[in-house]
Amino acid sequence: MAAAAPLSRGLMQAAEARKQMKITGLETDLLRVPAAPYSDAIHDFGGEGGGVVLRLKTDAGITGWAYSSFGMISGGPRVVQTILEQEIKPVLIGQDPAFPKRIRADLWRALEYQGVQGVTQFAMSAVDIAVWDILGKAAGLPVYQMLGAVRDRMPAYAMCGWYRPNDKDHSQYKRSINQALETGYRAFKVKVGKYDLDEDVDRIQVGFQTAGKGIRIMVDANQAFNRVEALRRGRVYQQLGCFWFEEPIVPYDHEGYAELAAALDMRIACGENEYNKHAFMDLLLKKGADVVQPDNRRAGGPTEWMEIAAIADGFGVELASHGGGPVNMNILCAIPNAIYMESGGKQKMVNGEVLAPEAPGMSSEPAPDFIARHKVA
Ligand SMILES: [Mg+2]
Repeated sequence: MAAAAPLSRGLMQAAEARKQMKITGLETDLLRVPAAPYSDAIHDFGGEGGGVVLRLKTDAGITGWAYSSFGMISGGPRVVQTILEQEIKPVLIGQDPAFPKRIRADLWRALEYQGVQGVTQFAMSAVDIAVWDILGKAAGLPVYQMLGAVRDRMPAYAMCGWYRPNDKDHSQYKRSINQALETGYRAFKVKVGKYDLDEDVDRIQVGFQTAGKGIRIMVDANQAFNRVEALRRGRVYQQLGCFWFEEPIVPYDHEGYAELAAALDMRIACGENEYNKHAFMDLLLKKGADVVQPDNRRAGGPTEWMEIAAIADGFGVELASHGGGPVNMNILCAIPNAIYMESGGKQKMVNGEVLAPEAPGMSSEPAPDFIARHKVA
């Protein structure tokens, strides 16, 4: 066997610095982020929004960032902050960030008594995102190029059809569709299930009429139905030409998802309320989903996502992110079976696609003025 070529001085210094890198500190900020009220079939968002900013410090001078947000439940971020500060910090200090799977295993062991789902998983996911941010910055690469990139851009759809106060004439809804189309989106999602089927049909038809030809519409019921009602309405959404039917029933009824997926030709999408790969494995074994939708607060960080995506790929199932932004982009660009990023708002798009972040790391650092504006003293 030929001897390996000697490393250059610069490479050796970089490798040496990486070898010695340790997590030396953990800091958090609690944010209150109130917004104008908006709803889906079962949630009222806006007034009680907030989140936690996480910073992992290293002795290499690199800081890893994550932000875990709550659209409602004002106490949630405070609980996540407490778990990070009191229970996770002692496990992390002194760890090498180049071992994200060991860190995940250590955190599981340290936290399993209180359960490793729910808000505990929110905290663990934030850690994994921050750890990958450190690794990307140390390597000088955006994280998608470290996870095994398959693309550098991603089709995105806009979340247009929230239920908003005083929007019986759909004027706000139509405006959000037009804004999305102007931004460059070629697909958008509409909430259904808050009212009766006639109202759903009205919203979907308004969507298609406003958007015109060639635009895809997904519908999302946010768990509003039981199995019978989900099938009754699903047949109508399918007839109208909707692309997928999201979260028709409660997330834990995997047999119910399997019944719907078998009965309907349109895609069944779900997974934003599933925690960890084990839940996705059960859902997929039961054939309960055509599109899985991990959320990077609940499902886990990039480490867990890559495993969820590979399991789904093995079942021939597509993946779309719940939520958007650079963290999701960095993960999705390394997932061959990913079809969409959920998104919204204005951003640079080319042919309905969002371009991958090019900054080293996760691009997970919230804007400093956003933190300053919303930080709870
Ligand atoms: Mg949803």
